[in-house]
Amino acid sequence: MSLNIDKIREQFPILKSEIYGKPLAYFDNAATTHKPQRVINRVNEVYETINSNIHRGVHYLSNQATLAYEEARNKTQAFINAKNSYEVIFTSGATAAINLLANSFGDTYINEGDEILISTMEHHSNIVPWQMMCKRKKAILKVIPINNDGDLVLEEFEKLLSPKTKLVAVTCVSNALGTVNPYEEIIVKAHANNSLVMLDASQAVQHLKVDVQELDTDFLVFSGHKIYGPTGTGVFYGKEKFLNEMEPWQGGGEMIKTVTFEETSYNELPFKFEAGTPNIAGAIGLGEAIDFVSELGVENIAAYEEDLLQYATDKFNTIDGMRIIGTAQKKASVISFLVKDIHPFDMGTMLDKMGLAVRTGHHCAQPIMAFYKIPGTLRASFAVYNTKEEIDRLVEGISKIAALFG
Ligand code: PMP
Repeated sequence: MSLNIDKIREQFPILKSEIYGKPLAYFDNAATTHKPQRVINRVNEVYETINSNIHRGVHYLSNQATLAYEEARNKTQAFINAKNSYEVIFTSGATAAINLLANSFGDTYINEGDEILISTMEHHSNIVPWQMMCKRKKAILKVIPINNDGDLVLEEFEKLLSPKTKLVAVTCVSNALGTVNPYEEIIVKAHANNSLVMLDASQAVQHLKVDVQELDTDFLVFSGHKIYGPTGTGVFYGKEKFLNEMEPWQGGGEMIKTVTFEETSYNELPFKFEAGTPNIAGAIGLGEAIDFVSELGVENIAAYEEDLLQYATDKFNTIDGMRIIGTAQKKASVISFLVKDIHPFDMGTMLDKMGLAVRTGHHCAQPIMAFYKIPGTLRASFAVYNTKEEIDRLVEGISKIAALFG
């Protein structure tokens, strides 16, 4: 089904903005997407009509808020096709989800000398929590290399798998390069080696169909705000068996069954991993965002964005002095680039004055920048509301600035 992009755009109030007198063209979607009116309304509605703390209340509002929160969990379960809704843990984002896993997994399964395998193209949030855990548990962090195109070197991945590899934690899609990794293959190979797998789907769920049962991934994380949902929301998925075995990360209200000063017993799933009052309105808003994406159809979004990416890549390649960083065989929605010797910050600032919002810098992926021996890039990342006309404006803007710099 082809999408009606004009109709979709109408649902995003911020897209009507003017920046320095120019219509906003927003290409920073890998950092965060905008929110459709229905998500904004849903969050407001929670505060206006059912605001209350969840799970523990006997009163009407608390029951309504609990129902809405749990309904959002069910929607998330259906969206990623988890077997059980209690395998979906709400967090404040992908970062919190990875920290949760690093701590819980580390405390439960990791001994001195064990190995965790990540890749060169991970976001810092899928590097640092593992480094911290490895330091604490005297474990070893190993890294799958990439090649110049920005593809993982799979032969090296296979060589790095060892009897000590307890977990492979990789991103589905690189936020800095746009590479779509062969995560299906990674899972099969890791499992054959008796290693578990965590997928960072922060840049995947908004662009590609992700089915945790079909993939057979053991863990998966993503952030709500990159999939048209509120900031401060995210998802940690884990297979029931491991969630039951793992120690909780954070202690507090909600995650307990009984507490005495001598001993505490933990609550059942998913509450064992949701200590304290969660972002109730946010999670409900995320449920609404998931409805928005599901109604459009992730496959339809993927097809539309693939066409945009191809169009933009072809146009970018006509610009004098253009260097696209990351030319992997399979990419999703991201073009990282440099033009001539122009500093990304200068180019980004000048594009901003034209109403063209791109991101500049290392994109929280400094090891990638070190690999390419560059300080950073400009990054244009696309969402379902971007158009070819906007890309034309971006290409025109980049070309003008490139010409200015001679
Ligand atoms: N992983 C990837 C691949 C990302 O792109 C990001 C955000 N840029 C994160 C993790 C962290 O997400 P958050 O800051 O929402 O926790």
